[in-house]
Amino acid sequence: MTTRIGITGAAGRMGRTLVEAIALAGGELQLTAAIERPESSFLGADSGELAGQGRNGVPVVGALAEVIDRIDVLIDFTVPAATVANVAECARHNVAIVIGTTGFTPEQQAHIDRASGQVAICKASNFSTGVNLCFQLLDMAARVLGDDVDIEVYEAHHRHKIDAPSGTALSMGHVVANALGRDLDKVAVYGREGQTGARSRETIGFATVRAGDIVGDHTVTFAADGERVEITHKASSRMSFARGAVRAAAWLAGRPAGLYDMQDVLGLKKLQA
Ligand code: NAD
Repeated sequence: MTTRIGITGAAGRMGRTLVEAIALAGGELQLTAAIERPESSFLGADSGELAGQGRNGVPVVGALAEVIDRIDVLIDFTVPAATVANVAECARHNVAIVIGTTGFTPEQQAHIDRASGQVAICKASNFSTGVNLCFQLLDMAARVLGDDVDIEVYEAHHRHKIDAPSGTALSMGHVVANALGRDLDKVAVYGREGQTGARSRETIGFATVRAGDIVGDHTVTFAADGERVEITHKASSRMSFARGAVRAAAWLAGRPAGLYDMQDVLGLKKLQA
């Protein structure tokens, strides 16, 4: 059975890559709607041409409500306020949603959590297979190295990124903190300046770089006296995220209401059980 996919943020960096990823996936997946901001200069443009793929006959429209009845699963890589509104619209129409947007406030996250009681949602700060494997490796490293190491998270992204630290860096921090029984909200240190004093062992530090066209680098360092372990992921193309999000959309179609993540899609949670 064909799964009809809509993309919100279709003219964005990820949106265009998603249009390409769906075309490459072929098979049972079909792009049926492309949505942008109501004031976007791309309204009416062909979404395939925008993505550099040649005409696909799916024009960019300015409101999800116009096309929601043509969609089985929405893939949303936009901005937090738009995602929250799109989740509400999807919940009203029982349309499953894959959320790639990052940078939600706790209140916005609570809206998403509530909507997952009505509709299937797959949300991940990073849809690449490699990063999701790294989450497993980080969990193992934290459990083995325990309280004998200092843990620091470094991330670098392109100059256009609007939130910091990245959602992926925060997810990595959560994985490590959970493995060690620490509360990230209490132990996270976001940047250092001036007379900081010596580092205390339980803190988890975050460092952010914004420069050029870096797609996404993440390193978590576990440093002891005499040795250190570093787990690094480097994305060189947005296609790694887009392919994962499209795989998540295919997996999500027809699932019962609930909040899922990429670890569910890849079957990685079973490894921890
Ligand atoms: P971008 O700015 O290039 O694209 C966002 C698009 O959303 C823009 O075209 C914008 O016009 C559109 N938009 C804004 N409001 C909208 C609305 N109400 N309706 C429809 N479209 C709307 O940004 P990007 O680099 O594509 O990233 C988008 C989001 O995805 C960011 O939060 C980023 O952090 C996140 N991201 C997540 C992953 C992941 O794997 N989870 C990977 C890359 C980026």
